[in-house]
Amino acid sequence: MTPDLLLVHYHEIGLKGRNRHVFEKALQRNLQRALGIPGDPMAERVRLLDGRLEIVTPKPGALEVCTRVFGVANVAPVLVAAADLDEIARVALEVAAYGDVAVPYQTFAVRARRSRTAFEPTSQVVNETVGELIRTRLDKRVSLSNPEMTLRIEIVGARAYVSATKIVGPGGLPVGTSGRVVTLISAGIDSPVAMWRMMKRGADPVPVHFHGQPFTDPSSERKVERLVAAMRPWGAHRPWWSVPLGEAQREVTLAAPSPLRTLLYRRLMLRIAERIAERERAGAIVTGESLGQVASQTLENIAAVGAIATLPVLRPLIGHDKVEIIATAEAIGTYELSIEPHQDCCTLFEPRDPATRSSARELDAAETLYDVAALVDDALARAVRRPSVGG
Ligand code: ATP
Ligand code: MG
Repeated sequence: MTPDLLLVHYHEIGLKGRNRHVFEKALQRNLQRALGIPGDPMAERVRLLDGRLEIVTPKPGALEVCTRVFGVANVAPVLVAAADLDEIARVALEVAAYGDVAVPYQTFAVRARRSRTAFEPTSQVVNETVGELIRTRLDKRVSLSNPEMTLRIEIVGARAYVSATKIVGPGGLPVGTSGRVVTLISAGIDSPVAMWRMMKRGADPVPVHFHGQPFTDPSSERKVERLVAAMRPWGAHRPWWSVPLGEAQREVTLAAPSPLRTLLYRRLMLRIAERIAERERAGAIVTGESLGQVASQTLENIAAVGAIATLPVLRPLIGHDKVEIIATAEAIGTYELSIEPHQDCCTLFEPRDPATRSSARELDAAETLYDVAALVDDALARAVRRPSVGG
C-alpha cells in the first residue's frame, strides 16, 4: 500500500499550553529538515494541522526518518477518505486487506475517533460498520481486548485518516525548543550519548572536540567528524568545533603536579568551551561524565573542575552506569564508531597517579604556575569550526 500521507502525532508538546505553537513549528521544521526538504517552496510537504502533522506523498524511507525526530510520539502510514461513512468503510477495507498481506492477522479491532467534525455518526457506529465489513469480507475475528491488528480511523474536519500500523517515535521535545548547548564530545562512548540525551530534551547541540595534535595523530578528529554525522539523523545540524589542546597540555605537564594534570586539562576544556558558548550563544555546557566512572569523575573532582564554570554544566549521564550507556549507544547507532581505536588527548601525558580527591583550591593554586588565559586564547585562535555533513 502506498500511503497518501504519514500522520505524525506528538504528546508532550500538547502539554505546553501557550508555547504549543512554538513546539509545533519546531517539530514541523525538524521533520522537514530530516526529510531533506529544503527551504520554503517545499513547506507544503509537512503540513501542520492542529494537534497533528501530515507528511504528504511520503517517499520510501520517510517513516524510518520520522522515528529519529524528537517530539514524534508515533507515526502512521494512512489512506485518506472523505468524512462519509460509505467512503470510510471502503477505504478501511482496503487498508485492512493490505494490512493482512503485510503482517497477517486473525483478530482485529476498529478504533474510530472524531474531533472537530460535522460528521454525524458516532465513533461506535463507525466501529461497528467497519468491523462488520472486515469480519465478513476478510473473514477475521473481532477481539477488543487483544487484537492482532488495530484499524485506526481518525475523523477530523472533512477528512478521515485510516491506518493499520502505528510506529512508535522517539518522544522527547523537538531539537531547538530548549535552546542551544555546547556539548563536549570526545571520540569515546559516553559523550555522543550525552549529546543525544540533551537533544531528546530539546537542546540544540554545538559539538566541541579537543584533540592532541601534533602529539597525537588525527584519529580522534576523524572519529568525531563521523560521530557528528551519525547524529544528524537525530537532528544535530550545527557546525562543530575542533580545538587543538596538545600544546596547552604540554605546558600544563611541564608546570603542574602530575596527579592534577587530567583535572587541569578539563578546566582548560571548560574555559575554552565557555568562550565558544559565548560566540555560539549557547546557554550551557554538556559533558558525558558519569559519577565515579574514572578518577576524574569522583564527586570531589567534578566539583573541583567545575568550580571555574560560569555557565551551567549539564551531565545527563551522571547517574547512568556503563552498561546502560553502552545500550543507548548501540540503540542510537554510535557504539560501533565509538569503539574504533583513536589517540585521545586526555591520555596524552596521562599521569600514573591521578588524584581522586582534589579541590578547587588545589587546582586554583596549580593554575598560577602557568598562563591559563594565554593557553585558552591560543587554543581558540587555532580552533576550526567545521560544517556537519553526511549522516
Ligand atoms: P567519553 O566516552 O565521552 O570519552 P569517558 O568516560 O572517556 O567519556 P572522560 O574521558 O573522563 O570520560 O571525559 C569525560 C567527559 O569530558 C566526556 O564525556 C566529554 O564530555 C569530555 N571530554 C573528554 N575528553 C574530551 C575531548 N577530547 N574533547 C571534548 N570533550 C572531551
Ligand atoms: Mg574520554
